[in-house]
Amino acid sequence: MSSSYLYHSTRAMGDAVTSKQAILTGLAPDGGLYVADALVDASLSVDLAAVCGEDYHAQARRVLGALLPDYTADEIATCVEGAYGPRFDTRAITPLVPMGDDWLLELWHGPTCAFKDVALQMLPRLMSVARGAAGSDANVMIVTATSGDTGKAALEGFADVPGCGVSVFYPDGGVSDVQRLQMVTQRGANVAVAGIRGNFDDAQTQVKRIFGDRELAARLADEHIVLSSANSINVGRLVPQVVYYFSAYAQLVAAGALTLGDPVEFCVPTGNFGDVLAGYYAKLLGLPVSRLIVASNANDVLTEFIQTGVYNRLRPFEKTISPSMDILVSSNLERLLYYLSGGDAACVASLMDSLAREGSYRISGELLRRLHETFACGRADDEETKATIRATWEKDGLLLDTHTAVAACVSNGIPRAAGVPRVVLSTANPYKFSRAVLTALGASDAGLSDFACMDALHAKTGVPVPPQLAELQTLPELHTTVCDQAGMGAFVQHEAERIFA
Ligand SMILES: *Cc1c(COP(=O)(O)O)cnc(C)c1O
Repeated sequence: MSSSYLYHSTRAMGDAVTSKQAILTGLAPDGGLYVADALVDASLSVDLAAVCGEDYHAQARRVLGALLPDYTADEIATCVEGAYGPRFDTRAITPLVPMGDDWLLELWHGPTCAFKDVALQMLPRLMSVARGAAGSDANVMIVTATSGDTGKAALEGFADVPGCGVSVFYPDGGVSDVQRLQMVTQRGANVAVAGIRGNFDDAQTQVKRIFGDRELAARLADEHIVLSSANSINVGRLVPQVVYYFSAYAQLVAAGALTLGDPVEFCVPTGNFGDVLAGYYAKLLGLPVSRLIVASNANDVLTEFIQTGVYNRLRPFEKTISPSMDILVSSNLERLLYYLSGGDAACVASLMDSLAREGSYRISGELLRRLHETFACGRADDEETKATIRATWEKDGLLLDTHTAVAACVSNGIPRAAGVPRVVLSTANPYKFSRAVLTALGASDAGLSDFACMDALHAKTGVPVPPQLAELQTLPELHTTVCDQAGMGAFVQHEAERIFA
């Protein structure tokens, strides 16, 4: 078999596909996620010394080249050039700044002010190349569930991309006002947005069901339309996120905070487990990551899992001030289970079956031991998160968003290893969550609109408001649909037919 056929489902060993095919289809036909065995047998690696002398573009070319071997060097270079240009407000793309004894990796310098841009400015470009390679004239309809930030980033990434349409489902009443406005004001002839009556897990479950709906697929195929995903279940979402772990390391070396080859640890605010899994991929590619700390909000299903080895989604769904992490079914954990089990697809399939049927599963003691070799965890509730925002502002002069603050709080509760720098991933600009951040600083939000909160936060801190968030109050709301979960498939079909008519 050619080494281009790198990817297959987490739930079965057969039917290997290229990365282009994996990106085009999003989810494997059996409902599994695409994984690469070359990561388990360590035959893939990235030259760390070389990475340390490079800028973000070169680092991205190197990491993407390793994980997407069927893309030519030219194709990757063009995608990188297009994705990481002037739509990011810094050439560094993901700058690292000191935060007390630790470091903060700022991932929100793209067009929608959340870390999802790093991947979603890239995915549409990778998808267009993959479409060309497939040699088919099929149009691609992206179907996306969002807990708040993926939706806007997907809309920005895919708006007006030829041959692509994008539909986004967000939990009605389950995202911040700014997040909602970012989505419902989106322009573009090929975009569709709907709120659903339900939470993120409901949206994600229905989206997975839509991917498995053969009748819908057949109807759309007649009209030359295929469905794909912009969620982190798509390989093309995950791979670009691996780059910034290498970039962080290179920036630490450049700052003299560590010597090439020394270990580093990362603390990651986690929901669907995509971001932290990308850190694990970086480790599998040779980055000396001694520990990955998974930080949860009150939806602490992952914290419990890492502590006990039992994953139990049957628990109350909490609405928190970090809504993008309000998730009980973390899809990408399935990939970690595959790699930790040394590539045991049958084991993964049976665990996922148990999750679907019983709402829970327990991993073996041996798997749990391997998990603990790399992963630590912690949780922070809303009050602890707010206290961390306030303390970090007062002590370090850094204004954290609510998600980043969950990670900073968890990080502060876990002892540091001597001489090992710790990097906290900063996943959103604080003005996406102005109300919660303002009240965290002790100010009142009584009677204030979300935009008045933005102004008040600016007046109090002097931290600049991103213009693309401030202008939201002046834009018309273009997308007003709110539908039942049962109506999502029909919405996708209707919108796909409208877009590709
Ligand atoms: C999506 C998101 C997260 C969680 O990332 P996952 O990859 O889903 O674990 C954390 N913070 C913010 C701001 C997000 O948008």
